[in-house]
Amino acid sequence: MRNLIALFACSLVMASASANDPASKTSKPTPEMAKPSSRAPVTAPKPAPAKTEEQAEIELSERIAQRLAELRAKQAARAAAAAKAKREAEAKRRREEAAAAAAAAAAAAPKNGTHWSYEGEFGPANWANINSGWAKCATGRRQSPIDIRDGIKVDLEQIVFDYHPSSFREVDNGHTIEVTVGGGNYLTVGGNTYELQQFHFHRPSEERINGKGTEMVIHLVHRSPEGKLAVLAVLLERGKPNGLIQTIWNNLPLEKHEVVSPSIVIDLKDVLPERREYYTYMGSLTEPPCTEGVLWLVMKQPMQASPAQMALFSRLYPLNARPVQSTQGRMIKESL
Ligand SMILES: [Zn+2]
Repeated sequence: MRNLIALFACSLVMASASANDPASKTSKPTPEMAKPSSRAPVTAPKPAPAKTEEQAEIELSERIAQRLAELRAKQAARAAAAAKAKREAEAKRRREEAAAAAAAAAAAAPKNGTHWSYEGEFGPANWANINSGWAKCATGRRQSPIDIRDGIKVDLEQIVFDYHPSSFREVDNGHTIEVTVGGGNYLTVGGNTYELQQFHFHRPSEERINGKGTEMVIHLVHRSPEGKLAVLAVLLERGKPNGLIQTIWNNLPLEKHEVVSPSIVIDLKDVLPERREYYTYMGSLTEPPCTEGVLWLVMKQPMQASPAQMALFSRLYPLNARPVQSTQGRMIKESL
């Protein structure tokens, strides 16, 4: 009987120890171990009169067997749980690796979005993320527009305008009203002659002068034979009606992206202010792809448009201006 008790204790210790190690295999107790081969002298109090010592040993061995079976079941359950956790961790690791690889591939892949706007998800702060070719919108150091201040006042050369009455085509391109003019309109400055390509409108003015903007601005985009760009900015403030602007508004296409070619001419001299002083600095296009190397010429004297002419544009484009960009220490020159 003492042997049996010792065996029972020993089995529990072994089973408990192996239960803590799911990987180890617990050997089944042999029949010899379960069945004592010899009997120790009985010194314990006599069993209940109803049971013989042999019956008590049988019951004890059954309890031992039952307890061992329970321990083995628990051990098997722990091992199964550990294996399941390992499988799940491995699956999670694979999923994370796949997600990281997909993200890296997406980051490396060239972006070729074309839709941009002046507000929200596709607004100026995100232009560079829409298309790989628009990186300059974020990384450029010669971006436009800027707040024009602290310019160097010098005797700037006069801009020579050679503008004539011209045929034109007009489109609402989804960002502004753009007017393409027939050839033969030039401006000359800094020894370079640039031909007028198109002009368009922003509301409010993109450029600021000492922190102050105007209600609208016209940008006249010129190109040299070598492909250099010069943009002339004419600020617009409220006042008298402007004949040329009225002609453009009169011929607005009914649908966006529909190009109209009215059979009349416009004379761009009608949008040039009387006084020809200007500010000048090197900047960029103010919309994607934000190309740099653009010569900016900002006329000091604003032109006027009537409140009704302003209101009409604001119904189409209440806001189509890029925020001002850092000057990055650029030189700004202005006429005396
Ligand atoms: Zn513009």
